[in-house]
Amino acid sequence: MEGENPSLTPEPGTLYVVATPIGNLADLTERARSILEKASLIACEDTRTTGSLLSKIGIKNRLQSYHDNNERQAAVRIADALVAGESVALVSDAGTPAISDPGFRLTRECHKRDLPVVPVPGPSAASALLSASGLPSDGYLFVGFLPPKSAARRRFLEAHIDFPYSITLYESCHRIEKFVAEMLDILGEDRCICLGRELTKKFETITTGTIGAISESFKSSSKKGEFTIVIAPRKFSL
Ligand code: SAM
Repeated sequence: MEGENPSLTPEPGTLYVVATPIGNLADLTERARSILEKASLIACEDTRTTGSLLSKIGIKNRLQSYHDNNERQAAVRIADALVAGESVALVSDAGTPAISDPGFRLTRECHKRDLPVVPVPGPSAASALLSASGLPSDGYLFVGFLPPKSAARRRFLEAHIDFPYSITLYESCHRIEKFVAEMLDILGEDRCICLGRELTKKFETITTGTIGAISESFKSSSKKGEFTIVIAPRKFSL
């Protein structure tokens, strides 16, 4: 279309790393929608999840699975398709691909082959919560998911007790209660944290306060859904 923004049209041989909503469909950007529609192929974590997103936004396109269990082989196959002139949109189930999600092996394979990799930025739970947390956010450490074993999580907290920047991490709803108790035990009741639950969704809750206060109120609040946490540096107080 004459006058259309060229960044809305995928170039052959280019990988687009496309962020998708983490709960609120309206967070899909115009550029993400256009690339998902016009790319010759969408590489996705779960074809049912991405199929359902596409049908909600009225788009049909070819899907190829690219997930934790086939990442190595799929990265080579997709890079081959790019060399053959296809344009590929990479998505994960929600949020930004390669951020605690599959993606790194494919972007690395593309860089090895000098294929262009273009980010189409948008939602990510970590940056969404940090931006709204009220905690220091000029610099931060993002660690994704801590190990599932309690001893390893405790070691991480002990090693970072005096870390001078905020720390952002993901935690599963099955472990969140235990992790709050571990933070209380190791970081102490006066350390400030922000707990984000169900960001951008109907039951979004964002609570910033001391671990002492949050662990107390958490006893009577829902532990269902998706959680992201920001831990403030030791010297910070609200
Ligand atoms: N790549 C994704 C991103 O950019 O946000 C993160 C993928 S990671 C596999 C999924 C984890 O992110 C969840 O277990 C949860 O800790 C966090 N998360 C995702 N969506 C969330 C939401 N709506 N609210 C709070 N945390 C969320």
